[in-house]
Amino acid sequence: MTDLISTLGVNTSGPIPARSPIDGAELGRVAYDDAASVEKKIAASVEAFKAWRDVPAPKRGELVRLFGEELRANKDALGKLVTLEAGKILQEGLGEVQEMIDICDFAVGLSRQLYGLTIASERPGHRMMETWHPAGPVAVISAFNFPVAVWAWNAALALVCGDSVIWKPSEKTPLTALATQALFERAAKKFGAAPANLSQVVLGLRDVGEMLAKDGRIPVVSATGSTRMGRELAPVVAARFGRSILELGGNNAMIVAPSAKLDLAQRAILFAAVGTAGQRCTSLRRLFVHESIYDKLMPALKKTYASLPIGNPLDAKTLVGPLIDRSAFEAMQRALAAAKDEGGSVTGGQRVRTDENPGAFYVHPAIVEMPEQTPVVCHETFAPILYVMRYRDFADALAKHNAVPQGLSSCIFTTDLQEAERFIAASGSDCGIANVNIGPSGAEIGGAFGGEKETGGGRESGSDSWKAYMRRQTATINYSDALPLAQGIEFGA
Ligand code: NAD
Repeated sequence: MTDLISTLGVNTSGPIPARSPIDGAELGRVAYDDAASVEKKIAASVEAFKAWRDVPAPKRGELVRLFGEELRANKDALGKLVTLEAGKILQEGLGEVQEMIDICDFAVGLSRQLYGLTIASERPGHRMMETWHPAGPVAVISAFNFPVAVWAWNAALALVCGDSVIWKPSEKTPLTALATQALFERAAKKFGAAPANLSQVVLGLRDVGEMLAKDGRIPVVSATGSTRMGRELAPVVAARFGRSILELGGNNAMIVAPSAKLDLAQRAILFAAVGTAGQRCTSLRRLFVHESIYDKLMPALKKTYASLPIGNPLDAKTLVGPLIDRSAFEAMQRALAAAKDEGGSVTGGQRVRTDENPGAFYVHPAIVEMPEQTPVVCHETFAPILYVMRYRDFADALAKHNAVPQGLSSCIFTTDLQEAERFIAASGSDCGIANVNIGPSGAEIGGAFGGEKETGGGRESGSDSWKAYMRRQTATINYSDALPLAQGIEFGA
């Protein structure tokens, strides 16, 4: 039990234990929603939406501003809870809360910028305009690895857009969701004029997510998680003509070119490949190194890997915390075995700290040198495995870079302007995120976040991602005394 949970008075009683991946200890207990309570919450969300959609958008922004203030005041406590429940190091736990604060700030400004267009009409005495209206209740289904930031990316925008929100967090991280919801309720109380049930949490396994996906009263379902989940959920939402925003698996790569600043590349590799113990959707998983620098970069990288501080993520010196659970560890071991079978040479990857933490799963991040991009490399294993391949020709590296089913994040380290431009050109990286001299992970909230192909195509966070949480209406107004028809059609008199 943490300070935040107790000071917020979050109800942590129930039959289901919430455990910390740090040591397997029980942090609290929760109760799952059943079909009847999910139904009740959806109905309440519809009522909240009906009231909220008529509140002027800048006023809606004021609620999000107050929520951002609550997050600022509780950043340390919520960041620590993220670390306890998801296992990421404290710096990253705090960074996750900062990301929530940033998106609140963005959404507050956005609340005065939900612009439509005025469009020239072909008919005299007519005017056309496009207005963005609130869409309805928005379901947010989130993954364990960003237990609170992903919800905030969605919720902050949805709320200023005039939508109500129903959040189904990962079953692996229910407490951070309950704490965040409690902070939101504090902000709503200060705001004074928020309808009841504007934001709600439903807890449970995937069946609870499925209930939200099926329900025709929820026009937008934003779902973050594995490609398997998206493959199951998207047809369910599509069958009722709902809108999905899908943020699914990635298989992110870096090309290190001969002209790269190797010290920068090495630091970027380390943060992206071992940060969050390789459990970011944008984690670096594939590394293409030019043959001319391979023998310089790889020994240096292996040396750094050999002395990685692995341990309790609350300890300031730790860089690599635990995997989320046993199944993540087993998936990692299966992938390493497959990589060996496919000709890979594995350094690291073994379980560590079994004496100190027998109920937890700490691993030494693995470097796997591959002769080529074999099937295991094309698959996202959600663990710290870095597959490394040599390349000779830039075009060949780029082709291999794009030859995986996922399309989330990508990067190149080069000081060659032509290579950099080719990488981000139409025929370059096919990912939603393409960076030059920056690793693939750790995006800012100002840009649209998401990816192509099996990553699902959704965009969240900055730029014009807000449009996905609204419905577009085209209105034509006739202020003349005539009734001219479009396309010059004559119909009767
Ligand atoms: P997961 O797919 O196991 O679960 C994600 C969420 O979906 C959970 O809340 C789960 O209960 C729910 N769910 C599962 N099946 C469902 C179904 N059929 N219908 C409705 N809901 C369902 O993912 P995870 O293990 O929690 O997270 C890791 C995965 O998430 C990785 O693949 C990672 O790349 C991905 N991810 C992607 C992004 C992104 O922005 N693209 C961000 C974070 C994580």
